[in-house]
Amino acid sequence: MIEIIGHERQRRLLAAKPAQSYLFVGPEGVGRRAVARWFAYGLNCERGFPPCGECASCRLRQHPDYLEIKPEVRTKSGQVSRRPQIRLEQIAPREGSEGKSLIEWMQTAPRFKAKVAVVDSAHLLGEQAANALLKLLEEPPSYGHVILIAPVREAVLPTLASRSLTIGFGPAPIDELRRITSDEAALGYSEGAVGRLRAALANPAGLREAESAAKDWLASLDDPAALLVATRRLEELAGGDFDPWVFVARGLETWPAAYRRAALAELARLREELSAYVSAELAYTRLALAMRRIYAEMRSGSPVSR
Ligand SMILES: [Zn+2]
Repeated sequence: MIEIIGHERQRRLLAAKPAQSYLFVGPEGVGRRAVARWFAYGLNCERGFPPCGECASCRLRQHPDYLEIKPEVRTKSGQVSRRPQIRLEQIAPREGSEGKSLIEWMQTAPRFKAKVAVVDSAHLLGEQAANALLKLLEEPPSYGHVILIAPVREAVLPTLASRSLTIGFGPAPIDELRRITSDEAALGYSEGAVGRLRAALANPAGLREAESAAKDWLASLDDPAALLVATRRLEELAGGDFDPWVFVARGLETWPAAYRRAALAELARLREELSAYVSAELAYTRLALAMRRIYAEMRSGSPVSR
């Protein structure tokens, strides 16, 4: 059975009058995929919504009428891709490609009553893949439903967004999450997202490591050489289970607004540079120098320079 914390309003909306395509927007780990699965189980349940958990369809753990497509995070050579993308062959049949595409999967009738395909990170659809998906959204089979998942509506191509009913998902109130745990570090890292909370609780050592690397980073702001080392370490950890930059951002919350904004802008610039294939060492060095400047300006009380 699918256990979901919160999102009652969204689930009422889905159950009342199912549409053929949706766009689920909200922060990572907040439960958009869990609700998509719940929707698929509800559509296929003998007794309808909410899924009973007992019928032949509900008892299946891997449901044949539910499919998730997501970006490939590794390149063909096995490296972690800096620009993950949903490729055309994941959406539409293409000569020479292995595996079944979403459109092929959607062409056959459901085993039970309805098919639900989830396109996770729809903002990372390649152009050709997006065009192929658009055709499906324009003429879906009567039993077919598509759910696009993205952080915000604006991140998705307008042609796709306009054919989908947008449903927003927010973080759960922290008091609801306290029913799961009292671990403050895990609760803080979750930022109200149940998925992130569960990941944090499943690997407490990894979480502590990310937290302490972020502390080291914040403690070396007046020393560019140490900050360079600390930045390298944070980037290594960011490829793992926990993003230590979340803790850095929380650490910056105590800074006066102007300096905090300047610091966050520098972190955003680091992301941009790394995704634009600027040499990582060059980007880290630039960040270290910029952060030392902002930190020195904050301590001396002088205005933020550009
Ligand atoms: Zn059922």
